Amino acid sequence: MKALRKLALPNGDKVPVLGQGTWKMGESRSRRKDEVAALIHGIELGMTLIDTAEMYAEGGAEEVVADAIKGRRPKVFIVSKVYPHNASRNGVAEACERSLKRLRTDRIDLYLLHWRGSVPLADTIAGFEDLVKAGKIRSYGVSNFDVADMRELHRLPGGKASATNQVLYNLKHRGIEYDLLPWSEKEKLPIMAYSPLEIGPIVKSTAMRRLAERHKVSPVQIALAWVLRRPNVLAIPKASKLDHVDENRAAADLALTQEDLAELDAISPPPRQAGPLEMN
Ligand code: NAP
Repeated sequence: MKALRKLALPNGDKVPVLGQGTWKMGESRSRRKDEVAALIHGIELGMTLIDTAEMYAEGGAEEVVADAIKGRRPKVFIVSKVYPHNASRNGVAEACERSLKRLRTDRIDLYLLHWRGSVPLADTIAGFEDLVKAGKIRSYGVSNFDVADMRELHRLPGGKASATNQVLYNLKHRGIEYDLLPWSEKEKLPIMAYSPLEIGPIVKSTAMRRLAERHKVSPVQIALAWVLRRPNVLAIPKASKLDHVDENRAAADLALTQEDLAELDAISPPPRQAGPLEMN
């Protein structure tokens, strides 16, 4: 197995292009052991970026992450997110303290505004900057921001230091290819693709199955390799089964040909016009 490709964030931190999501983890005691084991397995396979949020299981997912990173903290890159209603200058500081406690660590590597709410963006950035200065977070960024939001962010002091925009992107939801993705490439802003595997009925289509058989992989692996085909896109699939973790890791080594990409465009065509940002 090759080492996972890495991508440099604007502050110079290098992260693997394939990380691990945690939405829906921490919701049930009975599943916790499997969830922790899956995350640990992923870390061992090089998927050392772990995405979580104060929202997931109202803090329960961050506690699962804490178990998984115990004794492994130096090699893990933690991404967490603050609720928009906690995103005032003081609110961000308090939410971050709560997350650090649940994560049982002293630093979040990348702290994101989960989606845009009513708090002025300048206040949130001021809160993020305080946290960077205090060493509680290494960098900050946003999630579910469309091009107009990103432009507004970039006009604010400290806005251009934003390290990523985490958005819905997969073979079924290709909307960002029309405007957000080209804009982000021009600005050298990495995009973190969430729900990379949620492609609905496409997974069962004959064309997709044929393509997967040709590569001796599953349709889900094709879908993940497809998200990772662009140089400034990271993906954070969530898997709580060990074989899913193995499959996802293997998908990162899969190189799709121009012919494969054309077939996938026929299965799910790229957007022809701008539309509102899709969210999950
Ligand atoms: P996803 O990762 O696209 O899909 C997760 C589902 O796929 C789970 O049911 C998982 O099952 C299954 N799966 C994983 N690997 C598989 C494989 N190799 N073959 C077949 N099935 C597989 O969806 P997601 O959880 O919505 O998105 C990923 C992460 O992005 C989240 O966990 C979260 O961290 C983040 N996210 C962020 C936002 C935001 O607003 N910023 C929104 C949504 C998600 P098992 O668990 O049973 O293995």
